[in-house]
Amino acid sequence: MSEVQDVDVLILGGGINGCGTFRDLCAQGIDCLLLERTDFCAGASAGSSRLMHGGLKYLETGEFRLVRESAEERNRLLSNAAHYVRPLPSVLPVRSRFGGILPSVLRFFGREAKLNDRGAIITRLGLTLYDIYGRRFRAMPAHRMLSRRGLDKAIAGMDRGIIGAGLYYEGQISHAERLGLELVLDGEALHPASRALNHVTLLGAEGDIIRYSHSGETRSVRPRIIINAAGAWIDRVNATLGINARLMGGSKGAHLVVDNPALFDALNGHMVYFGSGDGRVNLLYPFQGRVMIGSTDIRIDDPDAAHCDATEAAYLCAVVAEVFPDIPVTEDQIHYRFSGVRPLPNAASDVGAVTRDHSIAELTLPGGTPVHCLIGGKWTTFRGFAEQETDKILALLGRPRKCNTREMQIGGGKGYPRTEKARADWIDRVATHAGLDRARAAALLDRYGTRAEDMAATLSGETPLRSLPGYSDRELLWLVRHERVATLADLLRRRTLVALSGDLTPQVAAEVAALIGPPLGWTKAQTEAEIATLS
Ligand SMILES: Cc1cc2nc3c(=O)[nH]c(=O)nc-3n(C[C@H](O)[C@H](O)[C@H](O)COP(=O)(O)OP(=O)(O)OC[C@H]3O[C@@H](n4cnc5c(N)ncnc54)[C@H](O)[C@@H]3O)c2cc1C
Repeated sequence: MSEVQDVDVLILGGGINGCGTFRDLCAQGIDCLLLERTDFCAGASAGSSRLMHGGLKYLETGEFRLVRESAEERNRLLSNAAHYVRPLPSVLPVRSRFGGILPSVLRFFGREAKLNDRGAIITRLGLTLYDIYGRRFRAMPAHRMLSRRGLDKAIAGMDRGIIGAGLYYEGQISHAERLGLELVLDGEALHPASRALNHVTLLGAEGDIIRYSHSGETRSVRPRIIINAAGAWIDRVNATLGINARLMGGSKGAHLVVDNPALFDALNGHMVYFGSGDGRVNLLYPFQGRVMIGSTDIRIDDPDAAHCDATEAAYLCAVVAEVFPDIPVTEDQIHYRFSGVRPLPNAASDVGAVTRDHSIAELTLPGGTPVHCLIGGKWTTFRGFAEQETDKILALLGRPRKCNTREMQIGGGKGYPRTEKARADWIDRVATHAGLDRARAAALLDRYGTRAEDMAATLSGETPLRSLPGYSDRELLWLVRHERVATLADLLRRRTLVALSGDLTPQVAAEVAALIGPPLGWTKAQTEAEIATLS
């Protein structure tokens, strides 16, 4: 067996909760090792609706603590991750004045009730409460109610049965996967003794020693505490460690990215967040020139089996007609589809009714090492969840908290230019210094935040890709060198928005694989296999 590495904390799972906890622990000077089975933010954290939101619908189930925490964290993210999290004007259509009062009361008291019509009174009440919960660090306007005429001015062509809407604001994250990676890189910079590895296989536990393999090598680590942050895979990771516990009960949710210019134009920059006839809440919003449609909520036992199946795709296309009956959405417009598994706590009730709040289950390895399992939580609340877990770890280790992360800017959000003038100055300075034109510097700022400055300095002489001229060879090679890229999917699905924007064609996959294969040491067969995984 190889030499055993001693660490304070071993984190298993590099979704947003694992990455966020890693950063907070690093900021306290704790030695950590994070091991991720695939890539950072490749699980549920890549499958979300990408709303940094206060969880409006959790008001209906009386989860006020979660709403308050989510709204505050949303407001913080608008400032700490200003490069990727932006305000999203959103409308809640209403079809009646009094609809939904009785079902809302029943749901509030934990009874099952179908709520497919949230009338004007319920909507106004909900949005008023939502504003109150979101008032700390408020960064966006309060809600207002729109008449049908007001709604038509904001969004054209909605169903004629809609009599008005509530207009309010949420946060929307463009590059969710990149933010997870940035937390990891920030953590390592804060405490260089810590390390986060992707593409690792967890092999098992022997006493207090955990074995894993990475880059073809078997390694051993002896942690004082283990954090199981494996989301929907928490039970499986525990089983690999020799712990038998049924903590999780996942639900899968699918999204589509469709190319439908009429729908994109009609939305006019807004999200439509609507209750559909089947009692679910669905959403539509403009995303990278296309339209994001989500989502389903279906119980699933095997998280590795989750994919957006034909029934879900058909449902998501059809549900749009409930709010835009004159804009058909058809399956040939689908440019990208994805699915994620919500890491919900195990519960017998209907998945829609299971709490979305987070909790920590404390177990121990047969050898006595504490194992903390991070269950549930929203993407939006990762920082608060990480803070809660870090406080527990500090108490166990008898170490003080040195700083908090509440105002800690993340990755390319550090020093991000927040005004038009600051943005123009940043673009001028970086373009001049790197010898790029202003439009190119602006595109890099939008993609990578202020991290783009280091990248830009290496781009002179870059060649645009033939299959995707908005990206260049040097840009992608910089990402490979600096951002833990090991597979084609890491680069095209998570370091960039190429796949999610619907731009991942076979030509793009082949050209990028040929570009990054040599520096990553891929053989011809490996290159072909990488392309095949994306087709
Ligand atoms: C359809 C859907 C829509 C959602 N929409 C929103 C939204 O709009 N806003 C919001 O705030 N939240 C949303 N959520 C919730 C949010 O995405 C999740 O709660 C959050 O991403 C969970 O993060 P996590 O780190 O706990 O889990 P994950 O992101 O799943 O991370 C767990 C990680 O553990 C890794 N892992 C598994 N096994 C092992 C192993 N053996 N060794 C090492 N690593 C392992 C996995 O590869 C994975 O990367 C949504 C979720 C879904 C599914």
